Amino acid sequence: EEETSPTKKLVSDHGEKVASHYNTLQEVGLVVRSQSRIFYMRNFNNWLKSVLIGEILDRVRGAGSRNVSVLDLGCGKGGDLLKWRRGGISHIVCADIAEVSVDQCRTRYEEMKRKSHSNEKIFSAQFIASDCSKEVLSERLDDPELMFDICSCQFVYHYSFESEQKADMMLRNACERLKPGGFFIGTTPDAYELVKRLEASDSLSFGNEVFKVSFQSKGSYPLFGCQYHFSLEGVVNVPEFLVYFPLFEHMAKRYNMLLVLKQRFSEFFEEKVKKENHRSLMMKMMALEPFPCEDGGQQATDNKEQYCHAKEH
Ligand code: SAM
Repeated sequence: EEETSPTKKLVSDHGEKVASHYNTLQEVGLVVRSQSRIFYMRNFNNWLKSVLIGEILDRVRGAGSRNVSVLDLGCGKGGDLLKWRRGGISHIVCADIAEVSVDQCRTRYEEMKRKSHSNEKIFSAQFIASDCSKEVLSERLDDPELMFDICSCQFVYHYSFESEQKADMMLRNACERLKPGGFFIGTTPDAYELVKRLEASDSLSFGNEVFKVSFQSKGSYPLFGCQYHFSLEGVVNVPEFLVYFPLFEHMAKRYNMLLVLKQRFSEFFEEKVKKENHRSLMMKMMALEPFPCEDGGQQATDNKEQYCHAKEH
């Protein structure tokens, strides 16, 4: 049985490392997480995703979509389920290469449903364990006709930039089932910033006591397969790949996607925090301790950027 499982067969080399890394990450409770030095950075990232998701839902609804369907590509343990619930979506497909994470995501969803008020209609959901850089996801959909309003790919896309084939399959999965006018939103490390910091370093790595980014060489950076290691308080230590954004944007055009917005986290923050509702959400999410971001967390966060593509009519 095990040998013939589609995920097992499809996962290999780098995919196997990523899956086993995320599969072995333990779920920790709020108390343990709050003691971590990266607690505020996680809160900040969650705030950023909440704002991004909220604004994209407004746009999709503004364009007339009523029953919103979402693909969460690289859903992990389902950290965004609550954001989708708040956004009142109708259906979600959660896919991830790490089977254990997908199981935890499903459990989280079932708990959410079980604990919800009888008058709240929680969205329906499908969970798929899949290497989305190798497998055509649409073939695994329960509803073969399903089309999405939004594909959300949060902190995931860079794993696929190992090869053009993988990056393209990930993009295909993100975009081929989007409705015209639908959105592909995501967050990924900023390759320019990573290279800038590497070039400024006198070794092959940079970082601080909280995070570390290590390359194997510098001076030349291939478009695909440009690998580095990222570790954050020992929590994440898995190979990632630089995403050269102009190439990514160009590749997305194959799927009729048009770049709507690309911003660094710091720019996004500065713009959104001016709005009262976003600012008060930020205060709530950061409310557990007095200072929002330690230097290390802030620096690690500044390495990231977020983007939003829309499908052309
Ligand atoms: N999106 C979630 C979030 O924001 O909390 C999880 C982000 S976590 C940093 C990256 C996730 O990408 C992991 O759950 C990992 O298993 C998943 N991933 C990496 N490569 C993948 C692939 N080829 N196909 C599907 N999921 C992948």
